[in-house]
Amino acid sequence: MSQSADLHKRRTAAVARGVSSMISSYVDHAAGGTLSDVDGREWIDLAAGIAVTNVGNSAPRVVEAVKRQAERFTHTCFMIAPYESYVAVCEQLNALTPGAFEKRSALFNSGAEAVENAVKIARHATGRPAVVVFDHAYHGRTNLTMALTAKAMPYKHRFGPFAGEVYRVPMSYPYRDGLSGPDAAALAINTIEKQVGADQVAAVLIEPIQGEGGFVVPAPGFLSSLATWARGAGALFVADEIQTGFCRTGDWFASTFEGVEPDLVTTAKGIAGGLPLAAVTGRATVMDAVHAGGLGGTYGGNPIACAAALASIETMRELDLGAAARRIESVMVPRLRELASSRPYIGDVRGRGAMLAMEIVVPGSATPGTLTAERVHGRGAPLGATPDPARTAAIQKAAHEAGLLLLTCGTYSNVIRFLPPLVMDDETLAQALDRLESALA
Ligand SMILES: *Cc1c(COP(=O)(O)O)cnc(C)c1O
Repeated sequence: MSQSADLHKRRTAAVARGVSSMISSYVDHAAGGTLSDVDGREWIDLAAGIAVTNVGNSAPRVVEAVKRQAERFTHTCFMIAPYESYVAVCEQLNALTPGAFEKRSALFNSGAEAVENAVKIARHATGRPAVVVFDHAYHGRTNLTMALTAKAMPYKHRFGPFAGEVYRVPMSYPYRDGLSGPDAAALAINTIEKQVGADQVAAVLIEPIQGEGGFVVPAPGFLSSLATWARGAGALFVADEIQTGFCRTGDWFASTFEGVEPDLVTTAKGIAGGLPLAAVTGRATVMDAVHAGGLGGTYGGNPIACAAALASIETMRELDLGAAARRIESVMVPRLRELASSRPYIGDVRGRGAMLAMEIVVPGSATPGTLTAERVHGRGAPLGATPDPARTAAIQKAAHEAGLLLLTCGTYSNVIRFLPPLVMDDETLAQALDRLESALA
């Protein structure tokens, strides 16, 4: 029996079934763009642990910083006995997030925890209850963030009842609604005004490019129209940059591409080279509205995670990983478009930087009536096509057999997404695309 098969047997007897794994091989070690399993097989990594290891696995500066910090102290709890690295991470976040205004940050452990805290802060600062979220949104798996997340299976199925005062409105989805950004925003805003009430809204919470929901890039002008509306309505515009952040889309944060300055930004995933860390960063007036002791947690801003974050940010600067993400886009997108041109089941190629995807559909089919566009036109949508989750799963399986680690996503489970570590070299990237092409065959 292979070592992985052996481990899998132990796992089945020890690990809860609800926690599943995409592949059944067990990892031995990993580097910039590859992963080696315990049976000596090498994989090309187009997952980066879900957009986490932007600086690569075991990045040299991160390893060094973690070792050094682990020898000094491992935990004191920032709420008990503070330390410099927590402050330094907050300084970096305040400087790097969009918006030339005075900011404050607070550190947490996971993306979901950051989103929960952003909602706490927004409600406290505005004195209002309602949180507006979007179709296809993903914000986490805790009780409040399940309510914020759109997709029922597997995230919410039989886990309710969910937190209240969460309202879902239509998302701009150019492939499926055919609307301009401002028109899609008008539709969302009309829904908010009629069904929530502008004066009840604490926060409009949105991923600048949706992650788990299908790498949906809103049409230009959608985010900025919403941000302008929120400002006028006295609501906060909150950007969930947990997946898009830290050079992933070609700049430090994706909001920048739309010229949007969110009141609050949530970050996690790419922040610390694989160590668990998350943050809420935002306007000083909003962040400091909360009373002393109102925010925190035992582990939030753990010193080893903070040391890793500082080393990761330094690596991103030193290697200019924003430019690296743009280079990855310039290599991958022409190749993906070429693949799509002779394969009508690739309905759309989209994304930005090193956050790219293709949507798999039934060629020549019409969009089913459940999608956003039906709300717009009161009939079947004019664009897009029937999602094909079965073919999507088959492509993913073939990629895994070819040694290519590939993720899917999307409300309809029909989107293949590409999230290479930003340090992946051109040769490995080209090899990954070759393996993808053979998987499509
Ligand atoms: C992954 C993700 C989260 C949740 O982060 P966890 O660390 O898994 O809790 C929230 N929002 C977005 C956009 C994400 O991609």
